[in-house]
Amino acid sequence: MKNKLGLYIHIPFCEKKCRYCGFLSFDDLDDHKKNDYIDALCYEIRLCGKEYAGSYIVDTVFIGGGTPSFASAEQIRKITEIIYKSFDITEDAEITIESNPNSLSVEKLREYRSSGINRLSIGVQSMDDDILACLGRVHKKDDVLLAYENAGKIGFENINFDLMFGVPDQTLKQWENTVSEVIKLAPEHISFYSMQLEEGTSFCRNYKKGLLDLTEESIVRKMYHEALHAFKDEGYVHYEISNMARPGAECRHNLKYWSLGEYLSAGLGASSYIRSNLSKESMGYKAGSITGSRFKNTGSMETYLRLTREGYLPIDLKSYHTHTIKESMAVYCFTALRKTKGIDLGDFTKKFGIDFFRAYRERADIIFKYREKGLLKITGTGIALTEKGIDHSNDIMSEFV
Ligand code: SF4
Repeated sequence: MKNKLGLYIHIPFCEKKCRYCGFLSFDDLDDHKKNDYIDALCYEIRLCGKEYAGSYIVDTVFIGGGTPSFASAEQIRKITEIIYKSFDITEDAEITIESNPNSLSVEKLREYRSSGINRLSIGVQSMDDDILACLGRVHKKDDVLLAYENAGKIGFENINFDLMFGVPDQTLKQWENTVSEVIKLAPEHISFYSMQLEEGTSFCRNYKKGLLDLTEESIVRKMYHEALHAFKDEGYVHYEISNMARPGAECRHNLKYWSLGEYLSAGLGASSYIRSNLSKESMGYKAGSITGSRFKNTGSMETYLRLTREGYLPIDLKSYHTHTIKESMAVYCFTALRKTKGIDLGDFTKKFGIDFFRAYRERADIIFKYREKGLLKITGTGIALTEKGIDHSNDIMSEFV
């Protein structure tokens, strides 16, 4: 039987670089360069198919970026066609595209639907035009309303809104307004992240020059908890630190990242994780225990185009890393704690052939200390962060690394 695989496709095009954004994307590619990139991407997907389609069936696809909706409808169709030609795709596959509200024309939305895309993620960030301008976004609130209405009319039944809080100068009131406007629109899924200061961004440069004040951490945390409760009251399920969904609308692709699921990525700088099992008992770990390899594509556009043209997978060989079992356990715990279900103790034993508390016996006192402080909860079946623990998630998760 074939294993399930998530496919991530990176489109590094943006209309204009947002002031906070550290993602690998460009706002200065001309049409010729964009076409070259899409051709290279299609070539890479074909090569990936030759390498992996024999052992895998794809059950999620995520076309992310950048701003995939800034690519033309034909370019996106070309990509989805090559995916379908190169891989077996499950009938119920979740196929997502990320988008910016102002580049979501009716024509594009129709093309996406007819290309098999069934989940739309909209980079809303805020429903306040002043905040959007501060972030350097190219859209306005009205673009969100129009894109959302059109997407619904065209038949999208699974829509995510990406939201951002803790924006410089954002007041609690402004954030509360965004939350209540989003609640009125009622998308199926909501991702809400606090703004982070990323190296190399316009915000970071201004901050270093003393020209930008960041929102106080206590206010950022208040914004998080207020939104969490407001969305919960509307029936959204909190399933990951920054993600909430209508029951059944959890993002299956992103869940792979938090559950040691396998994913293969195509595109500039994109990362992959492919699992393997210990073939025989080694260093006290049972045969069959899970391990895996991580690797990343080159982040250089020039190298990416050249390697794919020459018929090679554009992997940055220096990034290739095969995890030891211990590293796999650490990644499993670290990422599982992002989910509200936390670490599933039964699944841990199934994956690694060892009881969790035996594997982490040297950390047991730390784990119990966090429980006493009310930051972790330990049930018969799992270990998870409490709501209070989420505010200390980085410290707690790093105990497992
Ligand atoms: S649209 Fe998204 S990827 Fe592009 S610059 Fe803005 S935040 Fe970054």
